[in-house]
Amino acid sequence: MSVALQSGSVAGEAAPTAGVASRAADFPILSRRVRGKRLVYLDNAATTQKPESVIDAEARYYRESNANIHRGVHWLSQHSTDLYEESRERVRALLNAQRSDEIVFTRGTTEAVNLVANSWARSNLKPGDEILVTTMEHHSNIVPWQLACAQTGAVLRVAPIGDGGALDLDAFDAMLGARTRLVAVAHVSNALGTVNPVARLVQRAHAVGAMVLVDGAQAVAHTAVDVQSIGCDFYAFSGHKVYGPTGVGALYGRYDLLQAMPPWQGGGDMIRTVAFEASTWADAPQRFEAGTPNIAGVVALGAAIDYLREVGIERIAAHEHALLAYGTRALESIPGLRLIGTAPGKAGILSFTIDGIHPHDLGTILDTEGVAIRAGHHCTMPLMKRFGIPGTARASLALYNDESDVDALAAAIRRAQDLFDGR
Ligand code: PMP
Repeated sequence: MSVALQSGSVAGEAAPTAGVASRAADFPILSRRVRGKRLVYLDNAATTQKPESVIDAEARYYRESNANIHRGVHWLSQHSTDLYEESRERVRALLNAQRSDEIVFTRGTTEAVNLVANSWARSNLKPGDEILVTTMEHHSNIVPWQLACAQTGAVLRVAPIGDGGALDLDAFDAMLGARTRLVAVAHVSNALGTVNPVARLVQRAHAVGAMVLVDGAQAVAHTAVDVQSIGCDFYAFSGHKVYGPTGVGALYGRYDLLQAMPPWQGGGDMIRTVAFEASTWADAPQRFEAGTPNIAGVVALGAAIDYLREVGIERIAAHEHALLAYGTRALESIPGLRLIGTAPGKAGILSFTIDGIHPHDLGTILDTEGVAIRAGHHCTMPLMKRFGIPGTARASLALYNDESDVDALAAAIRRAQDLFDGR
């Protein structure tokens, strides 16, 4: 994360994509000190830091463009509406959706999943229907379905994973059947880094007539996403995990599906006509965007997408994979450290436990060294239960991290072990 290019401390290894990490200079927060130390920010799966261009876009919106959208006759309102709708087009292009009206702005992944659960699931599911998730899902891709099951009489089923953290594809296939109406699956696991073969899962699910929602919260900043080649019916992600602001995200939905779905929140902007006898709804996506949205956040999300494209998602992916390999070797050389999640082709997440040190204690000690990681269940309590552990320590990578960050992490872990050994 240091601004100058790092040569890396593994002899003879030059990271081919080191130029990506030099973009750390674009992120003002990364030059601040924490507890008197250089900030080593490795909590990117929780939220990413923001480049200057995104911070500027949000501030500039309020300075120059602020007005409510969609219902104004004055110039500023139309200008603000244009900026908002241009961001919708940027999200469309990012996900390679066919049409921009397949993109619904939400508060984030959680709200996107809740939208589908409250609208599609509640109006389509009946007692005995099944929703299939996997053991590695985030709570926000479990609990909305539990609520939908309680409301409709549908049943939640769970496809298991192997010891390395890969989905058990045979078991997944075997659990699909005539009763399966929806599959809800993470593209990338936030706790393990496992990348699920989503296009394959969609093929199998569609073969039995089930819809598929992909939770892309941990995917969009790290890999190219193409909803048409994945073939999914819904795809959700959060702005704050793709170098954009908090409080904004998007749901992609196939247009015919969205258009057939009832609203789940009522209010301004989502109606065609309102009368006390009955009201009628706007077309998708407006039908699902009741009330004044996070306009500044949507505009700044557009700037984050521009930033991602400028750095290059393929370059980011290559950089993070090289750094993951480096980090895996560094952590594997630490005695008593156990990596949780070793699926082939996994994304830049290093989850681990250390003999004799609780993850929370480790996180606290690392913090005193300026190393920010996450410790706990990562909103995946059923997954932790599957591994028989209360939680893990998790370092998660972003484009601005480099070998010096991983070295700092490994050194801080060793110091924590010394501290515990000397008790
Ligand atoms: N799914 C996954 C895989 C996640 O990692 C997260 C965030 N940790 C979410 C869903 C929820 O995202 P948000 O809190 O931004 O709605």
